Amino acid sequence: MIRNLAITLLTAFLSGLLSAQTLSRNELQARGGGWRMQQLDLDIKLLPKLGKLEAKGQMILELSLESSEGPGLFLNFKDPDMEFLSLSGPEGSEAEIDLLVKERPEGRVAMLSLAEPAEEGEQIEISFTWHSVQNSGACMVDQDIALARWVGGWYPIPLPAPGENSKVADAAAPGLTTFRMPSGWMAVSNGSRVMSEEGEGGNEETWELENSYARSFAAGPFIEGSQEVDGREFAVYLLSEKSDGAEVQARSLAAAISAMEQRFGEFPYSNYAIVEVPNNKVFWYAASQQGFIMAESGAFEFGANLPLFAHEASHAWWGNLVNSTGPGGILCDESLAQYGAVVAIEEIEGYEAMTEFLRFSRRGYSSAQCAKGYFQMASEGNDMPLAQLGSGGWQHDLSDAKGHWFYHMLRRRLGDEIFFSTMRGLIADFTGRAMSLNDVRAAYTKAAPESARMSEFLSQWLDRKGAPVLEAEFEAVGDGKVKLRIVQEQRGKPYHLRVDVRLILADGTESDQLVEIEGWETEIELVVSGEVEDLIIDPEHRLFIWKPEYGNEPERRD
Ligand SMILES: [Zn+2]
Repeated sequence: MIRNLAITLLTAFLSGLLSAQTLSRNELQARGGGWRMQQLDLDIKLLPKLGKLEAKGQMILELSLESSEGPGLFLNFKDPDMEFLSLSGPEGSEAEIDLLVKERPEGRVAMLSLAEPAEEGEQIEISFTWHSVQNSGACMVDQDIALARWVGGWYPIPLPAPGENSKVADAAAPGLTTFRMPSGWMAVSNGSRVMSEEGEGGNEETWELENSYARSFAAGPFIEGSQEVDGREFAVYLLSEKSDGAEVQARSLAAAISAMEQRFGEFPYSNYAIVEVPNNKVFWYAASQQGFIMAESGAFEFGANLPLFAHEASHAWWGNLVNSTGPGGILCDESLAQYGAVVAIEEIEGYEAMTEFLRFSRRGYSSAQCAKGYFQMASEGNDMPLAQLGSGGWQHDLSDAKGHWFYHMLRRRLGDEIFFSTMRGLIADFTGRAMSLNDVRAAYTKAAPESARMSEFLSQWLDRKGAPVLEAEFEAVGDGKVKLRIVQEQRGKPYHLRVDVRLILADGTESDQLVEIEGWETEIELVVSGEVEDLIIDPEHRLFIWKPEYGNEPERRD
């Protein structure tokens, strides 16, 4: 009896809680959606000993719908990390701060009811306080580090208009971010540091953001190194001394960005930083924010990590400036960020280092993201046409193992001039909107001369999985000629390829020839100036073809 009563009371309590506080997304968006953030000032107090943050903020909102009873704010996109403490607005308005979202149990909503309904274009100023109640991969504060990524929804974001989904623009606004931290700590956030003051209560910093970006930050006991280029600051923040100091690493970052600017055009951020976070605190290796990235300590172990710095900074163009969409859309951001690393290595370290990276990746960078890694993945059954790639897991690795090779071969087929000017054209066309792989195909098909056989080239590298496996043999046929026979051994269909062939003559001289191969077998006669001793296919490693040094030889056709 007593037990039954307890259950009845509990049920009554729970249903009361649910009916009073839980609303569906649609209901919430219908009530408080459609306000756009114009200005956002945040004041963040980091409490490492308590493992939490306490924060307050102010926001200017503008109504984009015909009318509204008042705005709603949302916290937590991934985990229930944050809770509202208060919300206030214009005189006479009333706030509710503990609303839950039926479809998003992690979400917290605060809703303001204005004294009078607002009309389209009306602006109001609101202020709020909130705090963290747990640590996660998107937001954490402990004795070693504090960090928050906008994708976690760690600060209040206006609810989208009815029927719409939240997008990065909803979380983006210019304004100030102030950090109150322990003595000896520094913060890194979007925009530029405009104030830093070490006082008795600890260190205080203010960052000013002129552009409309979503906010993220990292804070900790950093060692800072920076490099100024044309009035822009490129900085590296390390948690401990490394074989390459912060200054050296900052120079490497600045050099990578300059190298990519020569190819892609102006870097979209006025400054950029790379921040070390401790290993094993978060579930990601590196996380790109608008204007800086965070990467695990492991990424800095072998000195300045040029491919990582370049790849992440390259997302400023590919992913941030230009978004991606559709099947194989990962070729429009991820693979192009990876091609940024290729471009930076080529400019800074030279052709051989670039080729080595394309073939074998390098220490301190993902071993899967290179030709060798591709053949390993393919041998495990993880292969599919690039044009069908989704995101995440091995498909992400595949886009970084073969996708940058696709662009690299496209570049050779068209020449630097057409290849990079078309790429800059894509950036200009798709700034601020989403680009699909079909858009990339269309741009290169239009730019290519007939002789490039572009639609065939695109389709054999994008619409089929696998890679060519070539065998070659030669025989002297007299009159200073040699007969060359190249056979394609892979399964499926033959490729059309332009292959470099290096003939090594008895007197030690070499002669390179470009040979067009098509169909399963190609036979041609080449004129030579002496006796041929040996022959090397693709000696400069310009093609994505299987080679013995990659291991994991693909199965051959019958
Ligand atoms: Zn990436």
